[in-house]
Amino acid sequence: MQDLARKFVKEEIIPVAAEYDRTGKYPWDVIKKAWSLGLLNKHIPQHCGGLESGNFDGCLVTEEFAYGCTGITTAIDASSLGQTPVIIAGTKEQQKKYLGRLVEEPLVAAYCVTEPGAGSDVAGIKTKAVKKGKEWIINGTKMWITNGGVANWYFVLAKTNPDPKASASKAFTGFIVERDSDGLTPGRKEMNMGQRASDTRMVTFEDVRVPEENVLLGEGQGFKIAMKTFDRTRAAVAAAAVGLAQRALDEATKYALERKTFDRPIAEHQAVAFILADMAIGVETSRMSWMKAAWAADKELSNATMLASIAKCYAADVANKCTTDAVQIFGGAGFNSEYPVEKLMRDAKIYQIYEGTSQIQRLIISRALCSEAKQKNN
Ligand SMILES: Cc1cc2nc3c(=O)[nH]c(=O)nc-3n(C[C@H](O)[C@H](O)[C@H](O)COP(=O)(O)OP(=O)(O)OC[C@H]3O[C@@H](n4cnc5c(N)ncnc54)[C@H](O)[C@@H]3O)c2cc1C
Repeated sequence: MQDLARKFVKEEIIPVAAEYDRTGKYPWDVIKKAWSLGLLNKHIPQHCGGLESGNFDGCLVTEEFAYGCTGITTAIDASSLGQTPVIIAGTKEQQKKYLGRLVEEPLVAAYCVTEPGAGSDVAGIKTKAVKKGKEWIINGTKMWITNGGVANWYFVLAKTNPDPKASASKAFTGFIVERDSDGLTPGRKEMNMGQRASDTRMVTFEDVRVPEENVLLGEGQGFKIAMKTFDRTRAAVAAAAVGLAQRALDEATKYALERKTFDRPIAEHQAVAFILADMAIGVETSRMSWMKAAWAADKELSNATMLASIAKCYAADVANKCTTDAVQIFGGAGFNSEYPVEKLMRDAKIYQIYEGTSQIQRLIISRALCSEAKQKNN
């Protein structure tokens, strides 16, 4: 799969990445080709027609895709993010209906949690769902939803217990919502700094009716599902950041061997060579970090959450450092859109923001450390 992905990226993504970045067009052509080769939806269970591959194997492919274009990778991986709650908490019937659909046709899903007023503080979301007979009625607004305008269905987190004192672990419910539901309206495509091939939108829910069989796991279980999802998907975000950092390193190394100043390739100036060395240290160590996190998620180890946060936080920082360093090595050409590295630098920033900011990852890591230490002392 890794070899196939590498070949696909070389032939089908690298040649078109700059064009998708310039136009902001959704990469349906690439997604359809990748789907026809079986490169998408690898983690979908076998009973729905998928490969049921593990997190580790999926991340290997994600890293390859990200080497080609992280905008296209985010479009693809946001579909996996939307699917993961159904994989971890869906019934066989829900999985067959919604995951099976993605195996049968080149369609994508989305994960709707963030709102205009609540991102890091997930428990602060205001979207409400009220039960009426055998249906739930959803009202609210989601923000920054990747694949918001193109998804066939959405995972939606909504508040179902109006009591302000209800704990987060009981107050929210996760729903599968069809895109063509009456009252569901995606907003305009947002113009982002980077990863511009990806489709980011507001999604509004006005009296959207959802059948009770589309509740995941049961009323009040949504927060747990939404958070558990990240144990699996954050390793993939880290793997994507590593693919991006590796691309920056490769581009910078190639340029440093070609570009001459003071009668020698700039790679022979130690100040430049050492930047490359530091980039390589970051790439290798952040790769080890996503590998450990993905492995821990596959084994369902108790520290999988902390390892996913470490990988995501570290790989995001490394990707930002490596892409900034690549721009530096390119000099003036690094600042220009005719050369490849300015896109990499713009694309890198979001890794410190989505799926939990770097500050939130540090919060998760430090809390896990303290709770472990307290347990040891008791
Ligand atoms: C391109 C893009 C795609 C996205 N895709 C999706 C998607 O598909 N689905 C989805 O649900 N969401 C998505 N998001 C939303 C993303 O996950 C949130 O933007 C992110 O979690 C941060 O939330 P916020 O923007 O509300 O920032 P805020 O929560 O308002 O944070 C603002 C700043 O304060 C810091 N901060 C907040 N609280 C603390 C704290 N307790 N301690 C220390 N620092 C803190 C943050 O780190 C940040 O620097 C996407 C966002 C973008 C930009």
